[in-house]
Amino acid sequence: MKRLRFRLTAGFILVIMLVLIILGIYNAKLFEDTYIDTLSSRLEKEAMLISKSFNWESMIRKDYSTLARQVETWSASGEARVTIIDREGTVLADSEVSYQEMENHRSRAEVVQALQGETGTSLRYSHTTSKDTIYVAVPLYVKEDLAGVIRLAYPIQLAKTKVHQLWLGQFVALLIIFLLSSYIGSRIAKGLTGPIEKITEVARDITRQRFGTKISIEGKGEIAELARVINYMSENLEKQMRQIRENEKKLSDVLTNMFSGVILVDQHGHILLSNRASQQILNKTQADLIGRSYSEVTKNLDLRQWIEEVFRYKKGLRNELHLYYPEEKIVDTSLAPLFDEYNAFVGVVIVLHDITEIRRLEKIRSDFVANASHELKTPVTSIRGFTETLLDGAMYEEELLHSFLQIINKESERLQRLIDDILDLSKIEQKKLSLEVKPCHMESIINDVILHVQTDLEKKGIQFSSSIPGDLVIEADPDRLKQIFINLIVNAIQYTPENGKVWIETEVKEDKVIFAVCDTGVGIPKQDLRRVFERFYRVDKARSRHSGGTGLGLAIVKHLVESHHGRIWVESVEGKGSKFFVELTKENKKFS
Ligand code: ADP
Repeated sequence: MKRLRFRLTAGFILVIMLVLIILGIYNAKLFEDTYIDTLSSRLEKEAMLISKSFNWESMIRKDYSTLARQVETWSASGEARVTIIDREGTVLADSEVSYQEMENHRSRAEVVQALQGETGTSLRYSHTTSKDTIYVAVPLYVKEDLAGVIRLAYPIQLAKTKVHQLWLGQFVALLIIFLLSSYIGSRIAKGLTGPIEKITEVARDITRQRFGTKISIEGKGEIAELARVINYMSENLEKQMRQIRENEKKLSDVLTNMFSGVILVDQHGHILLSNRASQQILNKTQADLIGRSYSEVTKNLDLRQWIEEVFRYKKGLRNELHLYYPEEKIVDTSLAPLFDEYNAFVGVVIVLHDITEIRRLEKIRSDFVANASHELKTPVTSIRGFTETLLDGAMYEEELLHSFLQIINKESERLQRLIDDILDLSKIEQKKLSLEVKPCHMESIINDVILHVQTDLEKKGIQFSSSIPGDLVIEADPDRLKQIFINLIVNAIQYTPENGKVWIETEVKEDKVIFAVCDTGVGIPKQDLRRVFERFYRVDKARSRHSGGTGLGLAIVKHLVESHHGRIWVESVEGKGSKFFVELTKENKKFS
């Protein structure tokens, strides 16, 4: 900006100087010309006057002394040097030099012209007087005959001196103007470049995305207008940048919190973007992915091959990706080519959707159907077998008839239980089970449960005890709560040998209660602990079936506990006994 100011000032001064110098030269020339013109016409008039009053007789007589007096008189009155020359060019008299010393003047330009009857003028250096001189010569007539020439000479030194004075004056004026114009020029340049400097500073700030600074230039000129436009532009840019940032944030929030994984690969095969879900699915960190080539990042051949296919054919595709490390995953993978506004290929977007859980549930469902059919088939086959045997004649033997009918009755009861449990489970799973939540006095609930299992306890001689505080009340559906404890206590009785013990422990926390249904039974092997809550899962199939179990009891308990927003888990030592823990919330606002 300093350079611009300097250039402006220098340009301004240069133009003024040039104009002044041209004007000065022109003025000096004009002055000199005018001075010489005026001088020559004055000399011409004087010469004319002299020619009229000239005493020509002295010339004819060649009276040199009279002529000399005459030229001296004229010279004294007119300040010019006067010379009288005859027709042959011979000098007859001169006011400053002796005529004898002067050479023939016939060839002098002004004399030549005057001898032709005209006024002759010449400007040249005089060797006689050693000065630049202006000569004016007029013809001299004696009775209408050309007799000679009267020449007047005047040194133009004066004119030269005047011109020099003029030059000096002009130089001083030039110097003053130079100083003045330098000052004014620099002020004007500063006035012009100052706002431009401010504008440049703000523009520089804008490029660094600092929008706070504003240009304060008042007025109506173009620069003020430019400043206003820049301020407006800065405000607009700030707004747009804010909007872009907000949009970017929204987009990044959406991408970050998306359940699906998103990966963007550019046209050179480098990963540009990867969200959290994609990193979780592929078990990689952001640093493992961003900026790296997809081929060096993923060891999975399928994924690499699909990306290559999209690169080659520029067409989207969808496939199921199987990952095995660090855990087995099934990922629904969609790949699509990306194009810019000119339809040029710019990369590939990959969307990953972890469907392991969906696939697992699908498997559970199909397993359930297979298991349920299998479970139902056993009592139905048994019923049919015994019915057919009866019809084939066994019904006529009373003893057989009685025992077979008892078996049929037991199997149909089992069938009934199975169907009831399956229906219960599917109702709970489909969330169709409506809970009637009310404050439940836990001691009364457990007392009701004990009444229900009393005969079983007595049959096996099992001791039962419970440590439930008398004032413990929790918000729950009482019937479902009873169902939970009946299932757990019935299991405890079932899997505990005769004369064993079953008891309930209670741990009351601030807002939660943990109940533990404990027994001194057979226990559950370690490897089965995780699976006992699965449908139809039995540790010992033969024993469970024999005791009339459906394999659905714990699955139902788990669902019921979870529908009360509680938790269930088990601890067990094989051969020593099991503890089933149920954690429930005392006040369950979620139900209200
Ligand atoms: P079942 O109708 O067969 O009892 P459950 O779903 O109630 O089905 O239980 C699943 C399996 O968990 C049972 O078959 C049994 O092997 C095991 N189990 C449940 N409770 C106990 C317990 N208190 N002690 C030992 N094993 C148990």
